[in-house]
This record gives sequence, structure tokens and C-alpha cells, in this order.
Amino acid sequence: MRATKASQHTVIVAVTKRLSTDKDEPSILPLIKAGFNKRVVENHNLNACINELLCLEYGEVRTQLQLSAANALFCALDNVSDAVEIASDDREIQYVNHAWERLMGYGSEEVMEKDSMEVTKNDHNKPDLQDSINTQLKKGKYWEGTYYTRRKNGEILPSHCHVSPVIGPTGQISHIISVKTTSDASLIERLKDTDYSIVNGGVYGFPRRRESVTKIHSMTIEAPITKVINIINAAQENSPITVVQALDHVLEILRTSELYSPYLSQQLRADEDPMTTDLVGGIMSQSMRRQLMVSASQDVNSNSSKGSHQPHTYIPTNPATLSQIPDHIKAILNSEPSWDFDIIRLEKATNNRPLVYLGLKTLMRFGVCDFFNINETCLTNWLTVIESNYHSSNTYHNSTHAADVLHATAFFLEQERNKAVLDQSDVVCSLISAIIHDVDHPGRTNAFLINEGNKLAILYNDQAVLESHHSALAFQLSWENDSANIFRGLDNEGYRATRQNIIDMVLATEMRHHFEHLNKFVNSVNKATLKYEDTSSMSGNGSPDSSVVLNQLTTPENRLLIKRMLIKCADVANPCRPLDLCVEWGKRIAEEYFNQTEEEKKRGLPVVMPIFDRKTCSIPKSQISFIDVFINDMFDAWDYYCDVPDLITHLQNNYKYWQQADDNSQDCEEASSPTDGDKT
Ligand SMILES: [Zn+2]
Repeated sequence: MRATKASQHTVIVAVTKRLSTDKDEPSILPLIKAGFNKRVVENHNLNACINELLCLEYGEVRTQLQLSAANALFCALDNVSDAVEIASDDREIQYVNHAWERLMGYGSEEVMEKDSMEVTKNDHNKPDLQDSINTQLKKGKYWEGTYYTRRKNGEILPSHCHVSPVIGPTGQISHIISVKTTSDASLIERLKDTDYSIVNGGVYGFPRRRESVTKIHSMTIEAPITKVINIINAAQENSPITVVQALDHVLEILRTSELYSPYLSQQLRADEDPMTTDLVGGIMSQSMRRQLMVSASQDVNSNSSKGSHQPHTYIPTNPATLSQIPDHIKAILNSEPSWDFDIIRLEKATNNRPLVYLGLKTLMRFGVCDFFNINETCLTNWLTVIESNYHSSNTYHNSTHAADVLHATAFFLEQERNKAVLDQSDVVCSLISAIIHDVDHPGRTNAFLINEGNKLAILYNDQAVLESHHSALAFQLSWENDSANIFRGLDNEGYRATRQNIIDMVLATEMRHHFEHLNKFVNSVNKATLKYEDTSSMSGNGSPDSSVVLNQLTTPENRLLIKRMLIKCADVANPCRPLDLCVEWGKRIAEEYFNQTEEEKKRGLPVVMPIFDRKTCSIPKSQISFIDVFINDMFDAWDYYCDVPDLITHLQNNYKYWQQADDNSQDCEEASSPTDGDKT
């Protein structure tokens, strides 16, 4: 019988016929050579058989069990963070664990059977130190203290060392165990960079550091991010090194304060693409090109920026209700539910007042009057007040842009997914937010207003200056005129919720937080949808699972993310419109940026987006960059969520168009000249 390596419980038994020659009891050696390690001769005596079995159990079986326990112990040793060395009584190394290898820089095979004292020998320790250690060990006691040891690269390392004897069966010392830890911070840092040294969120051999990290975490008030970091720390405890390393990268990223933005701008700066850098810088950052600030007081008073004009509260006449809209405008509005709706045509037909007409038509269609408990006249008045506070002199940020964003918002709200997920208050707030989201826009970027020390920038502390103003002014205008106050019929609770909802959506249009909103949407909303698709394809029947995913999507948190994404997509949907509209909007935004650059130069302000220089700019290039950086990923995610394939088709076509236009090196002067007529 024998136990095999493959499994300790495998026993091979060979039964052979007893021959007369066996009486001589020949040597067992031939059998051992053949791989057998036990020979039992047939015996009719029951007691003899029992004895034989008892010997087996207390002999080989027990030894095997002890061996496997020993394996478990060594495995444990390899996973602790202290450096452990086991040597024989005469200090011959028999075992070192992984932490020891890392700390000392040797592989275990290099030091096996070597003299422990020789391997780490150096003259930093007191001459009599070894003697006092030996004295302790001989008494069967442990020694503990600071011990200098030499790493493989020659470097001398102080460590906290614990040496203890193991007493064998004869009562003599059979082994000497030493356990080392170091608190050498520079070594810890260096070991962190090696490919194997980071384990347990700290470094092998340095448990104290880890304790202090844990203490720091437990001292702070637990924020969600702290919880996440602690969970990852805990998960690292027993993970393989590759996983530990990956999680360390995760921790590194999580510990940065700007989770969603800075990485991109750094990357782009490295790419040295001035167009993209300008776009990202100009749109996303506050005032990237901070030069000497022109005297703020002078600029506030100079009032050259259009941001500080007086709000209009008068209400021009007609139309008062939907039925009073002239027929030729009605005809245009008939195609309003289509994505390809021509907003520029409406702009012309309404003499630059598309927002009142499209607003009235759309808001009535979505039952907004019922929600607010107001009549059509109040709604029209409100729309009129809001529209009159858009600057028709802006080439881009005028009421046509607001109407365009309203149109896209309404279109998105009609998609099946949004109909299922969003409730009536979400719908109403989305439409209202779209209408007001750029009201009183001065045709200049946040960075410009900050740089010139505009009073709005002062008022809002350079934070989301325009977005804060749009939202605040819209509420101010509403409450200033009772006959135009759509909110007047709401009770306190209803008004509070509506207001909160609208403010959140308008602030979400600030491009500074673009990647944050997009990432949250992808991670929360798209992943929930993904789960649904996985399970429904497995079950072959989507209906039971779709209710699960719907429950997930309709949580307040997810609805918030969806609404933010909805208005963001609507706000920058130009590249997803039919080609002629897309080109028109492209010219208009470039024109507005050109005007800003000209004013910056004239007034000696920092030039926020130098690439938008009328004389040198390539509109196709600017569009291509904008699509690459902001649009593609966002509309991918949006299409995945609510299925808008027509937008993606337009986007692809338009992108090809801009590429072609760029190839034909059509410069911006030619491209923008037709829009000059839009300037007033
Ligand atoms: Zn906008």
C-alpha cells in the first residue's frame, strides 16, 4: 500500500497469491523498489489485522495529516507582511518567506542552506549583540530589538527583529526563527515601485504603516469615497499580486480630488493639438490663460460685455394662445415632432421669436399648463418674457438656440425609454429648463466674464457664472410679473421640488463638469441597461426583467443623471442634426467665438481661445475636435440608453462632411461669410 502525491488519500493495494516460497519472508526491498511501501501478509487472526490497521492510522495517515498542516502553515507564512526566516540550530537557513525575499532582495533559493549570519553580515551592530542574542536563545527565551541587516545590494537596513528558539522533541533547540519588520520610509517608498512589493495596501514587512493608514481613515468622518477606499483596501488583503497592483492604481485614481476632468486636459496638452486644447480650455476651464488681470473695477464699470444689461420684463402682445398662431407658422410647427424639424425656418417666419411659438406648441402638447395649473395666456406671457431676455444680437446663444434645445429635449422625452422612466414633473422640468437654460447669455464664455471681472463673475464667485445666472434670472423674471408666473399655482412643496429640479438641469449644462456627468451616466444608467440586455437575452423574454431594470432606472438618483444627460445632449445636439442645420450652427458658434476673441484683443484681455481667430480659424477643424472630444462618447451613451439611431447617422455623415471640408482646406473666412447677415 502507498500514499501517492496526487492525493494523500489514495491507496494502491495489490493482492498477490501466497506462495510456498514466501514462507522464507524475503526482503521487502524489491517491493519498495516497485513502489510499494507496505507489505501485509494474509492473516486469519482478527487481532493481528486490527493492530495492522491501527499502525496504519497512527503512522502514515497521521503523518500525512501533519504534513498537510505544515503546508498550510508555510502558506500562511508566505502571506504575512513580516519577514520570516527559519534556520537550524546552527543558523543554516532552511526557509524564508516572500516578505523576507522582498525585504532582503534575495530569492529563497539563493540563501537556502547558507549561514544566516553570513548572508546579512555587516558591522553596524554592536560587537556583543550576537552574543547577547545567543545567550537568550540558549535559555530558551526570545530576543527582541533593533538589528542591522544587509540587503543583497549592500544597503544596510535597520529593522525591528524578534528572534526565538524552537525546542525539538529531544529538549534541544531544533530551529531558530527570526521575524523582521522595518519602518525605513525611503525603503518602503522604493519597494512600492518594484513589481511585487505592494500588498495589503502597504508594503510587505511594514504592518505599522498600514495601521496608521487605517487609523487615518477611521478618524475622518466616513464619506462614501472613504468607504470605497476601505473596501478596496480590505479586498487587497488576500488577492493575488496582479489584482493588488490593479487595485492600487484604482486607489491612486480615487485619491485624486478631480475625478473626472484634469486627466484629459493633460493628455491633450501632450498631444499639442491647439484646436482641441483651445476648445477644452475655453469651454471647460475657468480662466486657463490667466494673464495679468486687467483692473477689475475698471472693467465692471466699462460694461462692454453684454452680460450686465437690464432684464426685460415687459410682455409684448400676441400670440396669446395656440389657436392664435398664424397659419404659416402653424404649418412650419406641424413638423415639430420630427428630429429633422427646421428651426432656422421657424426663426425667420417668427422674426427671431421662435421660442414663444415652439414653446407654446410643445408645452401644450406635454400638458405643462395642467401641471402648473395655469392658463395658456400665462404660459405665453412667461415664454414671451423669457424670450425677450435672450440676446438676438448673439449669433449663437440667442432664443433660436433655446428653441432648438427645447426641440431636442421634447424629442428625447418622446423616446419610449424616457416615457417609461421619467414622470410628469421630470418632463415638465426638462422642458422648462431647456427654455431658460441660456437666458440673458451675453455671447461670451464663463472664462471671458471671469477675466474681465464681470459683475456676474463677482456675484457667483467665478463658479458656473453663466449657468447660475440663467437659472437665477429665470426665476426672478417669473416672480416679477404675476401674469407671467408659471410657478404661482404650485404649493410650497411642489414649487420647491420643481425649482430644485430645474436648477440642477440648468447647472448641468456647464461644460466644466461634462466628463463627470457623462461618466456617472455611463456607470450608473448604462450599466443598469446593460444588465437588462444580458438577462433578457438569456431568458429569451425581456418582460419580467425589464421591470427590474425599470426599477433601477427610476430611482431618484438615476433619474437625476438621466435628466442631466438629456439636457446636455439637447444643448450640444447640433452635430447630430441634418447637415444643413449642423453647418449653420457650426458657423454661428464660431462667429460668436470670433467676436469674443476680437473683443479680448481690443481690450487687452487674456485670449481664451486663440484658435478662434476670424482670419485663421478652420471651422471644420473646430467641429471635428468638438465632436471627437465631447460628442461621440456622449451620444454613444445616450443612444445606448434611449435608442436614437437617426442622430448617430446624422453625426457620422456630418463628421464626414467636416473632414471633407477640412481636406478641401476650406478656410473659415469663406465658410462664415454667409452668416454675417445674422449679426445685428
Ligand atoms: Zn445652450
